[in-house]
Amino acid sequence: MSLTNFKIWHFRGGVHPYDGKELSNQVPAQYAPLLEKYYVVLRQNIGKPPKLIVEKGQHVAKGQKIAEADGFVSAPLHAPTSGTVGDVADIPGANGPNVPAIEIIADGKDEWDTGLEPIKDWRQADITDLRHRIAEAGIVGMGGAAFPCHIKLTPPIEKIIDTLILNGAECEPYLTADHRLMLERTKAVLEGAAIAAKILNVERILLGIEDNKPDAIEALNKLADQYGVTVVPLPVRYPQGGEKQLIYALTGRCVMTGGLPMDVGCVVQNVGSCAAIYDAVAEGHPLIERYTTITGTPVVNPSTWIVRIGTPVREALGFAGGTKSHAAKLIMGGPMMGFAQMTLDVTVTKNTSGILLLSAKETGAYTSDPCIRCGRCVDNCPMHLQPGSISVMVESEHFHEAEHLNVMDCMECGVCAYVCPAKRPLVQHFRRAKSEIIAERQAAKAKAAMKHS
Ligand code: SF4
Ligand code: SF4
Repeated sequence: MSLTNFKIWHFRGGVHPYDGKELSNQVPAQYAPLLEKYYVVLRQNIGKPPKLIVEKGQHVAKGQKIAEADGFVSAPLHAPTSGTVGDVADIPGANGPNVPAIEIIADGKDEWDTGLEPIKDWRQADITDLRHRIAEAGIVGMGGAAFPCHIKLTPPIEKIIDTLILNGAECEPYLTADHRLMLERTKAVLEGAAIAAKILNVERILLGIEDNKPDAIEALNKLADQYGVTVVPLPVRYPQGGEKQLIYALTGRCVMTGGLPMDVGCVVQNVGSCAAIYDAVAEGHPLIERYTTITGTPVVNPSTWIVRIGTPVREALGFAGGTKSHAAKLIMGGPMMGFAQMTLDVTVTKNTSGILLLSAKETGAYTSDPCIRCGRCVDNCPMHLQPGSISVMVESEHFHEAEHLNVMDCMECGVCAYVCPAKRPLVQHFRRAKSEIIAERQAAKAKAAMKHS
């Protein structure tokens, strides 16, 4: 589709932080070397964790299923290489608490046996078979949320979907994994999108990409028509890649409080998930590796790597040459939405888009002060929230009031904290409020269930 007369909508708020992308965006991605051991975390998707189906000492092939989905909102896991199943033990989780992980001890042969036949002629395939393949391949949202992909591709019958949106914005500073992927695996991204569009029965496919990736835009445009995709360059503004912001930018449609993209006729897929759909369907390969940017000023060779799921961060940093200066902070993901880590023993999961090291100068110690009601956070919040007021409620443990101020709509983009002159730990407050509210809702549900049993 031609871009002439294509209207781009500009979302409210947002910021322009230093993006650090020049550190790694011109370096071609490389395959990470085979390691001796991998630790595949059992909880890698939103919803129920999958059930372990292998035993200690069992031989597994590369791509063999090692944990199967436990219900509809769940995703299986597969062995990142051939070898032997070791212990299942708790390891540090990238989002906080320890998590169980399956140890895979490599046999060095790296032999595939996925049991998944390639569906080369997918255009003639049955939609149910394609959906089933995507579910069996364990594909989740690879842009951060890790929502099982097959669910997004199974909208309720009453929802009318007319647009598939591909998220190639990669607005998070420092990360260049999607950039390199769109440049190097252009066909896989576009063909994966065409498969998803067939499943959804939609004709309009829009790929939103920030205009700071001209080489990727050029590569995509060369093939886009072939797959019915319209590539839409978007102005650089964080968080352009937020799901609601992207839908608005490309369609002018607003997802309301508590709503879903499907409510406005859209399904959004990350470009990495599209490439994984292509791999699963056309190649018969489940999701066992991903593009991950290993970067930051202390890193010797900031670059993007095709890293297997289960790779310890300690080893991953070695792929990029290790460090050349003191690193004060390790973040899984980018500086705005990523999670700071206490240890190098965390591992790469399906949604690890980046591993970022920052120097002491870049992070800086600071103390936070009381809110001075300057309103900057309100002016810049892309979700139209009142971050300052919500944070005051959370500090005094008034979680119901925080809920009434729509804290559950917060996408944890970090914009408010970035602009706050009092350096208030706003996102931490909102994460705490959300977990308290969710815990209370779950307790109420369990109480109601007991009453009726
Ligand atoms: S309140 Fe939430 S959505 Fe709004 S700027 Fe802060 S982190 Fe982002
Ligand atoms: S930006 Fe910070 S100081 Fe200003 S109103 Fe928001 S929380 Fe308060």
